[in-house]
Amino acid sequence: MKRVILIKYGELSTKKGNLNFFIKTLSHMIEDKLKGYSISIVKDRARMRISFDEKDLEDIQSILQKIFGIHTYHIAYVCESNSEAIQKCILDVLKEEKFSTFKVDVRRCDKRFPIHSQDFNCVLASVLLKNIPNISVDVHHPDLLVRVEIREEETYLYYHTYAGSGGYPVGTQARGMLMLSGGIDSPVAGYLAMKRGVVLDAVYFEAIPHTSLEAREKVISLCRKLAQYTDKIHLHIVPFTPIQEQIYQCCRDDYCITIMRRMMYRIMEEICKKYKGLVLINGESIGQVASQTLTSMNVINSVTNMPVIRPVACLDKLEIIDLAKKIDTYDISILPYEDCCTVFVPKHPVINPREDVCIEEESKFDYLPMIQEAVQNIYTIVVQEHDDQFDSFL
Ligand code: ATP
Ligand code: MG
Repeated sequence: MKRVILIKYGELSTKKGNLNFFIKTLSHMIEDKLKGYSISIVKDRARMRISFDEKDLEDIQSILQKIFGIHTYHIAYVCESNSEAIQKCILDVLKEEKFSTFKVDVRRCDKRFPIHSQDFNCVLASVLLKNIPNISVDVHHPDLLVRVEIREEETYLYYHTYAGSGGYPVGTQARGMLMLSGGIDSPVAGYLAMKRGVVLDAVYFEAIPHTSLEAREKVISLCRKLAQYTDKIHLHIVPFTPIQEQIYQCCRDDYCITIMRRMMYRIMEEICKKYKGLVLINGESIGQVASQTLTSMNVINSVTNMPVIRPVACLDKLEIIDLAKKIDTYDISILPYEDCCTVFVPKHPVINPREDVCIEEESKFDYLPMIQEAVQNIYTIVVQEHDDQFDSFL
């Protein structure tokens, strides 16, 4: 029997004015992600219908699971919109199922269908009661709630709801620049931003030779995991060594991290201008380390007027780890390669930095041309989900 996937948009469907744009973006993403499969998509304002080849169903379901904007979906049996065909369909399908109680819920989307919904509920229920032994109707807590949607072109029958990832389709918001380190938090931050529809670029500050090429490859692997949720991610690698070395030569030990992060933010602002990013996104979490106290965040943030989104700001580390495991970045994040932040950590980083001290310390070297140079020398790679260039590393 023919089946189709019926996708429900959920939160999407509250975006009245933008609905068409949201639906179009979602269907482009689905087409792109399922381009190796023989499918066809029909969309309307309430839901989307995907025809598929049965042999691909498992693959398709695991791909749909990673597409934001899908609230729930059903795998529906399809039959003609006439009483006999629907009765035959419900019986053929349900006699293969194990259940004791059921309820039928008919919706006549096509009001020209001659039998009223309530009456047709009874017709279908009695077909089942007559032909399947040991079952009964329970309108309150049925084992199976069988939905029957009668439309002009065809009728859909389903009784199981699959949860999608929710959120908005990637591409329904502008571009955000994710500061992606090799740690646990920033990939999760990137995932959560994409879930709200943000188009993501990633930026990695690299301090070779203090950090290794393995550390870079780790970031690329994380980026590839994130690319599962979109088509591709541009990863901008910033040569950060000269600035970092200057900071550690010229500035007070306890202020080095604060100043390093102020430099990162300044560079991020330039990167946003160059690559049309509207916000910075990072994995800062309140109180996690000295540079993430509210005072630190304030002093670091004050070098830019751009909005900074911190999707994991209010999550506990354990909650972040749960998400990292869910999106499969955790095992990569805990690989041991050092990041530029960890290489230079001072013994006692300042917890409540003062901005005037930062300015004083920063005046000890000429950082503006160094920022320009770092931005000019950015090395960008395009990371896609199925790009296995670095598989040997994992
Ligand atoms: P993560 O927070 O990703 O687990 P981390 O804990 O090593 O890594 P922190 O020192 O907590 O990183 O830095 C806070 C945030 O700053 C990171 O989540 C990330 O967004 C950004 N960041 C830190 N180091 C880098 C880097 N080398 N390149 C890009 N972004 C970075
Ligand atoms: Mg962190």
